[in-house]
Amino acid sequence: MSLANGRHYLAIPGPSVIPDRVLQAMHRAAPNIYTGALVDLTTTLIPDLCSVARTTGKVAMYVANGHGVWEAAVSNVLNAGDTALVLATGRFAVGWSEMAVWLGINPRIIDFGLRSAIDPDRVAEALTADKDHQIKAVMTVHVDTATSARNDIAALRRVLDDAGHPALLMVDCIASLCCDRFEMDAWGVDVMVAGSQKGLMTPPGMGFVFFNEKADAIRETCSNVTHYWDWRPRAVPEDFYQYWDGTAPTHHLYGLREALDIINEEGLEHVWHRHDVLAQAYWSALESWSTDGPIEINMSDRESRSHAVTAVRIGAPNGTALRDWMTAKAGVTLGIGLGMAPAGDPAWHGFFRIGHMGHVNAHMVLGVVGALQAGLVALGIPHGKGGLEAAVEVCAAA
Ligand SMILES: *Cc1c(COP(=O)(O)O)cnc(C)c1O
Repeated sequence: MSLANGRHYLAIPGPSVIPDRVLQAMHRAAPNIYTGALVDLTTTLIPDLCSVARTTGKVAMYVANGHGVWEAAVSNVLNAGDTALVLATGRFAVGWSEMAVWLGINPRIIDFGLRSAIDPDRVAEALTADKDHQIKAVMTVHVDTATSARNDIAALRRVLDDAGHPALLMVDCIASLCCDRFEMDAWGVDVMVAGSQKGLMTPPGMGFVFFNEKADAIRETCSNVTHYWDWRPRAVPEDFYQYWDGTAPTHHLYGLREALDIINEEGLEHVWHRHDVLAQAYWSALESWSTDGPIEINMSDRESRSHAVTAVRIGAPNGTALRDWMTAKAGVTLGIGLGMAPAGDPAWHGFFRIGHMGHVNAHMVLGVVGALQAGLVALGIPHGKGGLEAAVEVCAAA
């Protein structure tokens, strides 16, 4: 029988759970976009966005999803014909480079596969070999949402510095911002992109490009950028409409203000720590189940795992069967496997992902772990004992 009635839980890696406070803040009549509360509120977002990105640099806001800010970031600093070194640990750095190709950029991809984080030594080799500095940017993701790999961005900065290479370091934090510790300035990141719908707990539709002075100086000589994507008027507007080059995303701004308040009330360090512990609760459950049967966390090394999303291998057709069971019987929607097997290939059904980003707490995680264990039992999928108990232990010890 179905036990799904009650509040549904969308546990996918974005869009994430939207707090009731954010929804309520958005539930209002259309505000004046020329003067008054909305204009005042928008100015307060800038320091808070820079603070969660850990930067004293600038931020440009866009009415766009992640793909939009991918394009925005590239078009401000890379010209047609420029080469970018793309460090792939799954799907998303490659996706970003595909956007760049449309702008004439020539990607040089180092592929670390679907189960490893970036190996800094291989990056060092590529940069050292680039004697005449053809590589203008190193593009990668902090967290790859398909594989749940988490990359060591500070190590990449050291590699660039050791090689004396001037390329910009451009990082996609769409999945990781406000989930995994990220220090834009301390780690020497020049350009960073993020979206509203993951750790920022706001509906999809707003994107952010953070940039430092080095990147802005390159923007000066860049001929690819169009007026709409130009980060300068957005980051330093003379008139309110210039933040967006048009109508403001009115309701998103109220939602985002509330979400940043929620983050500030908890404290960013605590937010990161909560994500760390809750991720470990999932990992402990999955590792217990994996002692017997087909379950396996995609990233074997804990140090290289995201705290925002966990990709799981469970063998076809178990992945789809378990996801379907969770939705129909338990009221939980899990993420599909992404980039693990081609659509149409039976192997495609052997994966799932759990999103644990943003507005997530212990009872939600323990609820999903318990429901997953019930699903494994109901579907007769072999698994080791003690998964739920292991997750309980992690929460209890915290
Ligand atoms: C979600 C995500 C994107 C894409 O964002 P959209 O809003 O779907 O365009 C890009 N990169 C990463 C790491 C993501 O998690």
